[in-house]
Amino acid sequence: MNLPHKIIIGNWKLNDTIAEGTVLLQKIHQELKGFSAATIVVCPPATHLYPLHRELKSFKSDPKIELGAQNISDYEAGAHTGEVSAIMVRDLAKYSIIGHSERRTHYGETDDQITRKVAIALEHGLQPILCVGENLAQRHDGKAHQVVLDQLNTDLSDVTADEIKKIIIAYEPVWAIGTGTFAKPGEIEDMLRLIRNALVQRFGRLASTESRIVYGGSVDGENAKAIMQLQGCDGVLVGGASLKPKEFAAIVHAGQK
Ligand code: PEP
Repeated sequence: MNLPHKIIIGNWKLNDTIAEGTVLLQKIHQELKGFSAATIVVCPPATHLYPLHRELKSFKSDPKIELGAQNISDYEAGAHTGEVSAIMVRDLAKYSIIGHSERRTHYGETDDQITRKVAIALEHGLQPILCVGENLAQRHDGKAHQVVLDQLNTDLSDVTADEIKKIIIAYEPVWAIGTGTFAKPGEIEDMLRLIRNALVQRFGRLASTESRIVYGGSVDGENAKAIMQLQGCDGVLVGGASLKPKEFAAIVHAGQK
């Protein structure tokens, strides 16, 4: 089932000062003035959440733009220097990306940590944007399905049928992230179907049809429409192109039915 409104999520990664991020947000808002036919989320660095939260409150017209964190700690509080917890983020953001492949690969984040992050996010009212996806070697070895199923199995192990509705699953093949090579339509549809079927099997049809499944990996203003028209695609997670206001706006427009 495709849900009525697409969700477009921008992941700003480690880019922009607070001043630059504020201007970027203003420009995105300006480009999309009056638009209300999509759920729009931007995920800036953690330092930007508070000022951008305030900035968003000052916007008087559509579009409604929501905030997400890029990551949360797998602990709630305590001696964990450098971490930011769900409790700290929840007053500023509605969502948190969890298990992005850059965190899995560059920071050695494990599926056990991701399981805890998902549980903590849900406990404190944050909606997880859970990223799963295979790397190139795994795809070449014919292991893509198994990798994604294993990630889902572990990462969602503490999730209930009621909670799954709040989770957005982002299928992000690692080889497509930041490379300019997006997955082929057939590959995307195949994975979205696999993920949906896994959710249905585990959580039941009703709960599973309400959670969103999106694609991420080199989405831009040109390919966004075709990707979002694919069967089972509820939206997109956008990295590089989310830093360009006109292009991000074009992607948001491309999601309009
Ligand atoms: C991402 O960082 O999640 C991502 C999809 O990046 P890009 O759009 O740049 O490939």
